[in-house]
Formats: sequence, C-alpha cells, structure tokens
Amino acid sequence: MLRGDLEGEALEEHVKERIITTTLDTALNWARANAVFPATFGLACCAIEMMSMVASRYDIARFGSEAFRASPRQADLLVLSGRVSIKMAPVVRRIYDQMLEPKWVISMGACSSSGGMFSNYAVVQGADKFMPVDVHVPGCPPRPEAVLYGFNKLQRQIVGDPDLGWRQRYNAAGTEEWARMETGVPTPEALAAARRVVAREEKVEQEAGE
Ligand code: SF4
Repeated sequence: MLRGDLEGEALEEHVKERIITTTLDTALNWARANAVFPATFGLACCAIEMMSMVASRYDIARFGSEAFRASPRQADLLVLSGRVSIKMAPVVRRIYDQMLEPKWVISMGACSSSGGMFSNYAVVQGADKFMPVDVHVPGCPPRPEAVLYGFNKLQRQIVGDPDLGWRQRYNAAGTEEWARMETGVPTPEALAAARRVVAREEKVEQEAGE
C-alpha cells in the first residue's frame, strides 16, 4: 500500500511510528549531554578514581565523555577531583573561566564539596565558595560508579529534565538550614514558605509533563 493511501487511525499510527518532532534547543541539549568533554585536570587522590572512570571497567565512553581535553578551551566539564587549597583556588577559577560556555562543574568527593577532613586555613571549605558547581558527589573518595551516577544527573540537568532534590523526594521541606537557624526547629512560617516552594516546583513539573 502506498503511504498516501493511509487514512484515519492507520495514518495516525504511521505518523507516530515514523515521525519525530522536536525543537532545535532540545536537539542541541541532547547532543551536548551526550558529548560532554571533561578537562584533563586532577587535584588530589580523588583524581585516581576519576581516571579509572575512563578505563574499560567503568567506561565513561558509554556516555560519550571519554575524550578528556588537555586544553580548557576544548572542554565543557570541570571535575574538581580533590581538595582545593587556598593557593590553588585562583588557578582552578582561571581554568574554569577559560572554558567556553556552556560549561559545567562536578565537585567530586568530600574535600572539594566541603573541605572534608581538612578543616583548616589552607583548604577552601567547599569549591562553590569561588565558582558555580552543578553536581556534588559525596564520598572519600567516591567510587567511579558514584561519579558516573553524578555524571548521569548532570546529563539530565543539561537536557532540561533535572532530578528532584532529595527534600522534595522525601517530603523534607522545612529542614533547610536557613529555616531552623534561630531555634533549631523549623518555624511555622519557614515550613509554610518551604511548602510553597515545593508546590510551585511540582506545578511547573506537572505543566511540563502535560
Ligand atoms: S575526598 Fe578523600 S580521596 Fe578525595 S581528595 Fe579528599 S581525602 Fe582524597
């Protein structure tokens, strides 16, 4: 039968099966998320786990990101793989600034996310104090699987469909630090404000899904 002969339900079925509609933005984001080029850059012990992520056992090539670039100008992902000393912070920031937009950052391990065990004057207590961080991966060091999991989260963020935050998933609105700063327990106002935020986010998600 010629395609022009199809009508009604058969035609609808044919269109559903054979035609993909999308927007340029969606196509671009899909391509970006599946061809992220990380910068070849390690900070401390976590970097060893980051390197093993590229090897055959974990194989980040499955997600299109095995090509670590030696120049920040060719990279769009910076993995902060270790503690950032105060001396190193301006260097890290410069590398980040040299990368072209759009670019992303994964903070890998306890040290780069919060200073970890190095609670002292020589180490920055969290890299997000001097640069934007998209995903934090906990652990000391995080296993390569954990970093890959964080990387998958970043990919979902890039395609515009980020995972819910844990507070939303576990109905933990109101436990934010800012909400219980004064008394140690969330005030009714803080709880109400946090629930409003959650309700708003849920509405946006619903609308996006429709
Ligand atoms: S989190 Fe642990 S493994 Fe990673 S840099 Fe810090 S001490 Fe090293």
